[in-house]
Amino acid sequence: MKISYDTETFYADLVKHGLIIPTGVKGGYGRGAVFEDILRRFDNLVGRIAEPDGAEELMFPPILPRSLLDEVAYMNSFPQLAGSVHSFFGNEAKARELSTRVNGGERWEDLLDITEVMLTPAACYPVYPTFSGLLPTGGRLVTLLSWVYRHEPSDEPTRLQSFRVREFVRMGRPDDVVAWRDAWLQRGLELLGALGLPAQSDVAADPFFGRVGKMMAANQLDQRLKFEILVPVISQDKPTALCSFNWHQEYFTSKFRIRNADESVAHTACLGFGLERVTLALIKAHGFDPKTWPAHVKAQLWP
Ligand code: ZN
Repeated sequence: MKISYDTETFYADLVKHGLIIPTGVKGGYGRGAVFEDILRRFDNLVGRIAEPDGAEELMFPPILPRSLLDEVAYMNSFPQLAGSVHSFFGNEAKARELSTRVNGGERWEDLLDITEVMLTPAACYPVYPTFSGLLPTGGRLVTLLSWVYRHEPSDEPTRLQSFRVREFVRMGRPDDVVAWRDAWLQRGLELLGALGLPAQSDVAADPFFGRVGKMMAANQLDQRLKFEILVPVISQDKPTALCSFNWHQEYFTSKFRIRNADESVAHTACLGFGLERVTLALIKAHGFDPKTWPAHVKAQLWP
């Protein structure tokens, strides 16, 4: 079957089939029951494959301390993607002014002030400060499911402002961390390939801001710190990253003083499956109704 790539038609068909529900926010659509079922089934499949590794499951809310983003210098690298939470701290008079402006259709956001939290821009950030100190022998492996925010409004259905990531974070000796990353890269390719997705891996760079950012991205490519698993979803030439692998080396462990059992500085790496993106890739590859999907794909997702 020849697959055609037309973003507008794909979006319209997703809506027509009740898979996504427009909300008026670009990259902020709702998800229908069938979409959610596919997404959860894929997450469960990842869970079954990862089960022998015995990752510790943690859960954090989709907000994190502003101070944590300062510690990891997020605003130096990705100010354009950040989401800041603001609220009202004023008195009665200011509250009346706020209502008057809202009711009058005027701008009112200058009456708000920043809170202590920002929206979580990467699933693994909240993990690092909690592991300050010595790791157990052999290091640590954590998994989390998190809502992630990126300010990238778009009509393109795979580019969302708010989406879920199934993330794994490995901390330990550099060799162990890299071997874990490499093994998962292979696992990820096999897992997505077995679901009938033409998955390929490649080195990648994060969308660092500005001119300095271009140098940081070049350095990241040079050192092969980031890999992605890509599948064509909205374009054959520019396949979509469904899974990304980041080797942070000592970036987080030096900031949060995370050391191996022998006192050496630990390394970290993480990988994340973009769950909405995987769901959309499966729909693109196999059709809008999972009942009609190939039997070997259904057997894995609905065992
Ligand atoms: Zn991460």
